Amino acid sequence: MDYQKILEDIYQEILPFANKGEQASYIPALAKVNPNQFGIALTTTSGETYSYLQAQTRFSIQSISKVFALAMALSLDGEDLWKIVGKEPSGTAFNSLVQLEVEKGKPRNPFINAGAIVIADRLMTLLPDPDKEFLGFIHALSGTESIDYNLEVAESEREYGYLNAAIANLLKYHGRIENNIEDVLMFYYRMCSVEMNCIELAQAFLAFTNHQHFDFGGYKLSSSKIKRLNAVMQTCGFYDEAGEFSYLVGLPGKSGVGGGIVAVHPLHYSVAVWSPRLNSKGNSVMGMKALELLTTYTEESIF
Ligand code: GLN
Repeated sequence: MDYQKILEDIYQEILPFANKGEQASYIPALAKVNPNQFGIALTTTSGETYSYLQAQTRFSIQSISKVFALAMALSLDGEDLWKIVGKEPSGTAFNSLVQLEVEKGKPRNPFINAGAIVIADRLMTLLPDPDKEFLGFIHALSGTESIDYNLEVAESEREYGYLNAAIANLLKYHGRIENNIEDVLMFYYRMCSVEMNCIELAQAFLAFTNHQHFDFGGYKLSSSKIKRLNAVMQTCGFYDEAGEFSYLVGLPGKSGVGGGIVAVHPLHYSVAVWSPRLNSKGNSVMGMKALELLTTYTEESIF
């Protein structure tokens, strides 16, 4: 498969979408990013990496961080984790409060904000230095030590994080959060603020394409857990657009409001794409289109 040519052809085909959508502005620090950027990187399980355009420009991974947090929590708590967070698609926006009230503060899944905030709390309870552990896990997965938090983005999100604060308060009211909510939110914002580029993300997610030997930074997952983590990405990775992504792309994946999307073709490759302009559901317009074309051109998906 000539992946390099496929990535380049895809870009030509999605150019008509280059001005569609807007970058996230509800986090003011993200509004400063030049929206007219695009990068893509694909790493195969045999170790080759193909990339195109701004694949080495770091961006805010935002909700993609929720996959790393889930992997750590699953490694530490095992199946008990599902007592505090569900694994059903929400069909609502990533920052929605609607179900949370009705369902007495048990978040639908780990990839909506409520679920990730509960996981952030759990990691704070279990780990003596969660900030260091979280970055260390990403360093181990990506093989890149220079990846770091962007504290300006984290602080900017805290300052305007009214909805997340409402979610955290509701969770606390229902006894779903053990630690101080300000501290939990700040840890959650720091996780979201991590900056990585497409090549680093594709490399980090390669670990989720392999069903064996998951042992990174001291966190181990069995082959069954890796498959289950992919199942949650498949059903919940794109909030109220999870069905659409499954239908058009056919791979487990996760998006973030920084404009990044990562997807995994188990036993084949991981792919990361980035372009800051988002659709109304908070997913990258060009990123969604690029991945749809990738599985169309290669004629391969999980189905
Ligand atoms: N940090 C963002 C938030 O909590 C993450 C949302 C996202 O990437 N979908 O709103």
